[in-house]
Amino acid sequence: MSVCKTLFIRSASTRSCHRLKSLLAVFNAASPLSLRRPCHSSILLTQHRDMKVKLLPALADNYMYLIIDEATKKCAVVDPVEPDKVQAALKDEGVELTTVMTTHHHWDHAGGNEKLIEAVGKKEVVGGDSRIGALTRKVGHGDEFKIGNLNVKCLFTPCHTSGHICYFVTGPSNSDPAVFTGDTLFVAGCGKFFEGSPAQMYSALVEILGVLPGETVQFLGIIFFLHSSVGLKISIVNKKLETSAV
Ligand SMILES: [Zn+2]
Repeated sequence: MSVCKTLFIRSASTRSCHRLKSLLAVFNAASPLSLRRPCHSSILLTQHRDMKVKLLPALADNYMYLIIDEATKKCAVVDPVEPDKVQAALKDEGVELTTVMTTHHHWDHAGGNEKLIEAVGKKEVVGGDSRIGALTRKVGHGDEFKIGNLNVKCLFTPCHTSGHICYFVTGPSNSDPAVFTGDTLFVAGCGKFFEGSPAQMYSALVEILGVLPGETVQFLGIIFFLHSSVGLKISIVNKKLETSAV
């Protein structure tokens, strides 16, 4: 984590890093995971123009996401580690699951793939690593697919694991940009460098995620900041700002 913090500081004067900060700022401002509500147990919904994202808490501090195309009622799920919760959410929303999007092979992200497919039947399971359970399509950087009318672009961001993929999702007219960053980018840091180098993480954060449109909303794999001293400080600052704004 300290390596990543250094990386942010070193890049502070670059245009790319400025954009990266914007991405984080957008998350802090727009995400329903806002520090105003640092609770992991609630199912939350974010409504965009063409898509809906349902946030499903999983395990101790992970998140699964249903990405729903409002026009066709087709949807995808990101990192469905708790299949029972995913099935309940599909029923609640009355949507058809077409695709399982896996950010990386770690059990707390990909560990529910097989059980989910057993329960709901054959679906496309995408990811960037052959170690991912039930994988049907191995994707690489720039690969694209659809969720109903929504567009998904795969962003190869190796470092946390050698096959990590982030998913950039937009509406039919490139509206509602959102990025699902798994364990590559959190709010107050980035994932551990288990299978990659600092140079790879720099590329992922600054050259790939850092150049996404400024209005992109980030959905991360773990609310890691709730357990970090950095997150605690941010939380306190936000609370003060919130109090003074009332
Ligand atoms: Zn991981």
